[in-house]
Amino acid sequence: MRLNHRITSNMDKPRENCAVFGVTCDDIGFSVAKYLYKGLISLQHRGQESTGISVLKTGGKIYTYKQKGLVSKVLNNKRLSQYWGNVGIGHNRYATTGSEDYNSQDYIQPYHFKNNEIEFSFAFNGTIPNYEEIKDKMEDMGRVFVTNTDTEVIAQLIASISLGTENWPEILKLTSRFLDGSYSLVLLTSNGDIYGIRDPLGFKPLCIGEKKTETRNLYFVASESCAIDSVGATFLRDVEPGEIVHLSHQKDIHSELVLKSDKTAVCQFEFVYFARPDSIIDGVSVAEARLRMGQKLAQRDSLLDNPHFRENAIVVPVPDSGRSAAVGYAKEASLPYVEGLMKNRYVWRTFIMPGQQKRKAAVKEKLNPIKSVVDGKHVILIDDSIVRGTTTKQIISLIKNAGAISVNVRISCPPVISACYMGIDFPTREELIAGSCFKEYGEEDYVEKIRQIIEADTLAYQTVEDLKDAIGLKSELCKACLTGKYPLKSVEKISELEQSIKANRC
Ligand code: SF4
Repeated sequence: MRLNHRITSNMDKPRENCAVFGVTCDDIGFSVAKYLYKGLISLQHRGQESTGISVLKTGGKIYTYKQKGLVSKVLNNKRLSQYWGNVGIGHNRYATTGSEDYNSQDYIQPYHFKNNEIEFSFAFNGTIPNYEEIKDKMEDMGRVFVTNTDTEVIAQLIASISLGTENWPEILKLTSRFLDGSYSLVLLTSNGDIYGIRDPLGFKPLCIGEKKTETRNLYFVASESCAIDSVGATFLRDVEPGEIVHLSHQKDIHSELVLKSDKTAVCQFEFVYFARPDSIIDGVSVAEARLRMGQKLAQRDSLLDNPHFRENAIVVPVPDSGRSAAVGYAKEASLPYVEGLMKNRYVWRTFIMPGQQKRKAAVKEKLNPIKSVVDGKHVILIDDSIVRGTTTKQIISLIKNAGAISVNVRISCPPVISACYMGIDFPTREELIAGSCFKEYGEEDYVEKIRQIIEADTLAYQTVEDLKDAIGLKSELCKACLTGKYPLKSVEKISELEQSIKANRC
C-alpha cells in the first residue's frame, strides 16, 4: 500500500486495506485451491477491489494469479482447477479509487518476486510509512524499482538480505528490523514453506489454525479467525505481535522468532468496525466487544433518566455497522431494539462513488426508514463512527421525514479527529468532521458543533476510556486517530511534516 492513497479517499467510512490467508497440506496430491477460495471469501469485508493467489506443489514452481474483482469473480471453478498445489497464499485488496495506479496489475497482491538468486511470493495487510527512506537507500546501492509501493520495497529488501543467508527466519527477522510500520504478512517460499509475520506492535490481526484428518494435516494462517472457521479448521491462537510463525507441510506449526517490543498498538477500529463480528482477535470476541460498547453508551446516557422520553423511545441501528452496539445499548437501557432502517444489500459501493451528489443519491438508494416503526418515536440511532458526517446527516433527515419525534445519535467509537497513517484508508484530518470541528471550535464545543451540522436532536460519543474497557484487551490499543498521538516514529515525523506544510500554505 502507498501512504498517500488516503489523500484521494472519498468514502464515509474508514476502510481496511487488505486481508491475507495461507494454507499448507502435507499431502502433495491434494489441492488447497478450494481452501484459499473459502478463506478469502470469508475475508472479503477487508478488501473488495482485487484478489489473488500463489500456489505451489511441493517440489514444483510458484504460480500466481491475480485480478481486479471480488473473490467469487476472480477465483471461479475453472481458475481454481488450473491453480493446483498443496501450499498456497492469498490476498484481498481494497484500493482507493482516484489513485492513478488503481488499474495496474503491479498493485494487486500476492507480490511474486523472482530473480537469479531467489523466488518467493508474499501478501500483506498494512503499510510501511518509512518505505521511501528504505527505497532511497537501496537505490543508492544499485537496486532498481519498477513501482512506487511499499510492497516492492519489502520484496527488494528480502531479496537483498537473502544474498547473505539462505535461512528464511533470519531473512525475515532482519527484514522486519528495517520496517517501521503496521503489517501482517504471509510469505510463500519456493521450497513450499509459509511464514506468517505480525509487526512488533501488533496493529493488524493474524491467527493460525489446523485441520487434521486421518489422511492429511492442514495448517492455516489468516487475518481473522472467521477465515479459520470457514474452512472447518480449529482455531489455534493469534500470532503474537512481533512473532514469526512457520507453517511447514513436513512439520507442525512452530514459532521461529519473536521480535520483542515493550508495547503494543492493536488497531481499535478492528473491534469497532473492520473485523467480522464472529472473529476473535487477541482473545477478544469482536461481537461481544461491540455489545459492551453499546452497554457503555447506555450507562452514560442521561436521556434515559427522562421517563417521558423513554415512553416512546426505540433503539435503531444503522445497518450493518451499528447493529451489535445497538443490541448492547437496548439491553442495558431496557428499551426495544428495532430494525428501523431497511438496507438494500445490492447497493454496497457507496464509498467508492466520486462526488458528493452521487454519494447522497447512493445513501438514499441504500437505506430506507420503515415509517411504521419510527413514526411518532424518539429514535436512538446507533452507529460505530462518524467520518465525514454526510451519510449520518442524510440518515437523520430520512428518519425525521418518516415521522420520528427526535433522532438521538449515539456513536460507539470516540470522535475520529486525526488521520490514520497505519494502513487504514481515512479522509484527511480536514475532511473528518470531528477533526475539522475540533480544530476550529476546540475540545469544549466541537461535539455540539457536529450535532448542529448533522442536524441531530442530541449526539453523544463513546469516551476513550469506555472504549478501552469495552474492548477489554490486555495489551495496549492504537488510538492515534482518536488522540493524534502516533505510536510509530516514522509516522510522527510524517504527521508533523504534513501539519507544518499545511500551516505554511495557510
Ligand atoms: S490510527 Fe486508528 S485506524 Fe489507524 S491503526 Fe490506529 S486505531 Fe487503527
